[in-house]
Amino acid sequence: MIIKTQIVVIGSGPGGYTAAFRAADLGKQVVLIERYDALGGVCLNVGCIPSKALLHTAKIINEAKEASHLGVTFNEPSINIDDVRTNKTNIIAKLTGGIKALAKARKINVITGYGKFISSNQLAIENSDDIIEFEQCIIAAGSRVTKISVFPFDDARVMDSTDALDLTNIPKRLLVVGGGIIGLEMATVYHALGSEISIVELSDQLITSADKDIVNPLFRRIKKQYTNIFLNTKVINMNALKEGIKVGFEGKNAPEFDIFDKVLVAIGRTPNGKLINCEKAGVEVNDWGFIPTDKQMKTNVQNIYAIGDIIGQPMLAHKAVHEAKVAVEVIYGHKLGFDALTIPSVAYTDPEIAWTGKTEKELKAEGISYEKGVFPWAASGRSLSIGRSEGMTKGLFDTKTGRILGMGICGTNAGELITEATLAIEMGCNMDDIALTIHAHPTLSETIAFATEMAQGTITDLL
Ligand code: FAD
Repeated sequence: MIIKTQIVVIGSGPGGYTAAFRAADLGKQVVLIERYDALGGVCLNVGCIPSKALLHTAKIINEAKEASHLGVTFNEPSINIDDVRTNKTNIIAKLTGGIKALAKARKINVITGYGKFISSNQLAIENSDDIIEFEQCIIAAGSRVTKISVFPFDDARVMDSTDALDLTNIPKRLLVVGGGIIGLEMATVYHALGSEISIVELSDQLITSADKDIVNPLFRRIKKQYTNIFLNTKVINMNALKEGIKVGFEGKNAPEFDIFDKVLVAIGRTPNGKLINCEKAGVEVNDWGFIPTDKQMKTNVQNIYAIGDIIGQPMLAHKAVHEAKVAVEVIYGHKLGFDALTIPSVAYTDPEIAWTGKTEKELKAEGISYEKGVFPWAASGRSLSIGRSEGMTKGLFDTKTGRILGMGICGTNAGELITEATLAIEMGCNMDDIALTIHAHPTLSETIAFATEMAQGTITDLL
């Protein structure tokens, strides 16, 4: 059957559903193609949301275990893994069900199936006779887990992030390959649920895109909790044996090999650009599988747009959402483009790590001269009150103008706190704008003002 539509969106992740909803709200006829029954993409089904649901469980367990200094001692937590899984599944069901209802309310034609281009205005749905004829297409087909073919992924004990979120069981010894955000978040969950964690990371620090000093408080805490953290270390082979997964390492401080009950491979994600027959529509795809776009989210083909993970880093849901709005407004005829000055990043580890704007290493590499203010949370009344004073807030400011260039925060709720700095960057705030803004006391957000005052030199010594 030929289905004619004004706009077709491929993929129902945060980028895709936002685009479809916005286009429908602007009065466009919309078809949304999603290969899976559940809408919401990676983020809602196997990404942001399930991981944060499990991280909340982990937080409760950790807080209960660490409450003795407050004068309260709990018994060892009793964990019902089926209930932990059910809680996560219920949250996903609520959100994906909500997306489905919102799509229906907007009369969006949701087609379940795998879409592939057959020309620059037609898509075929695999295993069906349906052909979608469109005026404009928004590609929001996302990304997939990067797999290394020599690792024995056919053995259920070798997991990717999706498998790890399934919580089939809690292994005694878990190796996490990759010290990035996803690997560390899952390590946080499994550690709280009882696994002994080892981490292996190729580079010389965890979460390489953040400044090392911001990551250090997390590193110091998990070094005490986890069995091993091997930096500058490569996994050179992995074999599934009866007694466990045997992993060979190459690195100064790592053993030649070790055996684990399970291994989580979290080494990144690959964009899906090469999987949708872009060549049939004439859409350019680069060697990595990303689809290049301009600031209006247009590909090289004038009626085809692309958004989200499939167009480039950072692969984050809030970037996809923002790009979706831009693509639809541009199709509608509004003159605008994606011109965010910064996209914040957050690792929802314990403590959390969040950063926005330029990092110190980027400023150094770009030769930009900057002032730095670092406020240690050990001097914050609020962080001491909640018993988590290991964090720090670092502000980076232009030497000449005093304008905020970047901020990094490590500590409880860093992911919430970073928004103030993101807004400050977008508003072009300088040191005075931040330091003279009255922050409520005692809050963790005060550390942002204090770090700014440290950079100004108006706070020189701490209690
Ligand atoms: P996706 O969410 O990948 O959605 C693409 C959709 O397209 C999928 O549903 C897919 O099935 C569908 N699709 C693909 N090809 C086709 C086709 N040919 N036909 C039909 N359908 C197709 N980001 C954050 O910002 N914060 C977080 O805390 C966070 N946590 C994460 C935790 C984990 C474990 C993972 C894996 C990712 C996390 N992310 C997080 C990243 C976030 O999930 C992605 O950046 C986001 O989902 C990208 O949205 P998207 O719309 O580009 O694509």
